[in-house]
Amino acid sequence: MGERSSNIINRDDKVIGTSMKIRLFPLVADKASGCTITDVDGKEYLDFSANWAVANIGYGNPDIIKAISEQVQKNSFASFATTITEPTVELAEKLVDKLQTNYDKKVWFGLSGSDANDCIFKLVPLATGRRRFISYFGSYHGQTIGSLTLSGHTAQAKFIGSGAVTKIPYPYCYRCLFRKEYESCNLMCLDYLENEVFTYLSPPEDTGAIIIEAIQCDGGVIPAPINYLQRLREICDKHNIYLIFDEVKIGVGRTGKFFGFEYAEIEPDAVIFGKPIASGMPLSGVVGRSNILDAGVATHLLTTAGNPVSATAGIATLEVIEKGNLMANAIDVGKYMKDKLESLKDRYQIVGDVRGKGLVVGLEIVKDKNTKEPAPRETAKITFQAFQNGLIIPYVGVYSNVLEFTPPLMLNKAQVDEGIAKLESAIDDVEKGKISEKDIERFTGW
Ligand code: PMP
Repeated sequence: MGERSSNIINRDDKVIGTSMKIRLFPLVADKASGCTITDVDGKEYLDFSANWAVANIGYGNPDIIKAISEQVQKNSFASFATTITEPTVELAEKLVDKLQTNYDKKVWFGLSGSDANDCIFKLVPLATGRRRFISYFGSYHGQTIGSLTLSGHTAQAKFIGSGAVTKIPYPYCYRCLFRKEYESCNLMCLDYLENEVFTYLSPPEDTGAIIIEAIQCDGGVIPAPINYLQRLREICDKHNIYLIFDEVKIGVGRTGKFFGFEYAEIEPDAVIFGKPIASGMPLSGVVGRSNILDAGVATHLLTTAGNPVSATAGIATLEVIEKGNLMANAIDVGKYMKDKLESLKDRYQIVGDVRGKGLVVGLEIVKDKNTKEPAPRETAKITFQAFQNGLIIPYVGVYSNVLEFTPPLMLNKAQVDEGIAKLESAIDDVEKGKISEKDIERFTGW
């Protein structure tokens, strides 16, 4: 590690609380461009994470820089709660158009994925008079009280939360809790929802919404089967329960469609977005049924939410995605990447599963392919060693054993080759026992 990085890491240790850290490698970023981050000692890293799926259009895009700079000079802030700014309204109009459903729609804006999930947590009971929610084992909806209550991830399990949320098993078919195989299971996990959960835990007439990630990301990059989402929609329709998709990580083009749920060709009642929408400027939101987002006046207000700088960055982000055909690239390069990762599965005993859509791909690391025993330490070592090789590849999962690939959507095939070569060398070193526990002791992970 370089001297400047080492110095800043020591200072960070002294003054920043661990509550806001999940450190997987010793990166002290200085600048970034395209798909590359340069640290304060001048070392370059290829970024397969896009900083947790925020930099969908890559770093330092000139159109974004121009849009933000011009807006800052005009009016950097007006509290949208009280003062209307045109870019905010324009972005909402564009998002309403992106959600192709046949009902009246509106938008709510916030600052982070967590507060957007809180919006649903507060407004659905207000709009429907129904007090309960259903969400999923392994789901990550955020760290505020409402969003952590909705979450089923180990990261939030330290907290009790508040409110009536029943969690049900996510269709994690690689590790089915019902010990079934997809598709011969006939989606027994949804029979459990209909027969047991509705009967004993969350009566449908008091259940306002089911909230789901179409690909459960922090839970381990697990795509829900399409027929699972379709049948879930039917169940919700039968009981007038809203079906809400949290697209904070996979939305805004990453899967090759604007929203990941679109692969299931169903209509959600609301969609939660965040992370990449404004390319790093603080912005999140919900787009969905007007009657949810019109539930009361001043019922979910954040002073700086929807400010014109973030909104302008949002509009520019949508334009860059469209002009650069980034969704088509996500499909093409994503397939190339996934195929290459599949070939690693054949070569390494610890590579258990490869899954994903577009440019959101997961590689599950196990001790042994047959037992599928999760291998979190090996995963942390791969991430650490890949970093030494100049590749940023974080890990997620309720067992902390899934490498998560969410690179900028303009990644090209040569960069895939370069990154996977660095990754393969790291996997090889880990399989041969070359990385020690001491190497990763600083990195607590999830
Ligand atoms: N929802 C999902 C699906 C997420 O992946 C995350 C963050 N990982 C959140 C919500 C919370 O977003 P934020 O950290 O911006 O509050």
